[in-house]
Amino acid sequence: MHPDYSDFLDRIPEAPQWWFNGVPRYNPFSPLDLSVRPREVGLALVRCQDCGTEFSIGIEPTLFAEGSMFDQIALDHFNYDDPPRHASPDGSRCAGETMGATPICLLEAWQWESEAMDFVRQPQLEGPIVIPEYRVHRWLAAVGSASRPSIEVVGPDN
Ligand SMILES: [Zn+2]
Repeated sequence: MHPDYSDFLDRIPEAPQWWFNGVPRYNPFSPLDLSVRPREVGLALVRCQDCGTEFSIGIEPTLFAEGSMFDQIALDHFNYDDPPRHASPDGSRCAGETMGATPICLLEAWQWESEAMDFVRQPQLEGPIVIPEYRVHRWLAAVGSASRPSIEVVGPDN
């Protein structure tokens, strides 16, 4: 579970544009706003497993996984971590703060290119993230619903 940044959120009237490691960010996403020089970074839309609230989160390779982050995403081996701290729609603390977030869409994909000495956007890697059936079943068990949830995909242009 990430730290509670309600002291920031309570003082800033606008909603964060995205989040990184649970920290609200108020400028548009930039690949330079994550850790120092990872080779791959992205902006992902994720959903809270408990209340369904969606967040745009900055992502980068985890410290424990080797290889390409985008390959891990394609193989469903990537850890999106917990969603930012948040309240449920009824105002109570959301239990989903302690559950790994469900990936919905890779909104932006960037790779560091040495020759260009800059991040270059990779739109061919962007788009909906396929959610395996076992995850849908686990999610249904968690929410106690008998019907499959509709997965609405929000792309960068929507
Ligand atoms: Zn939630």
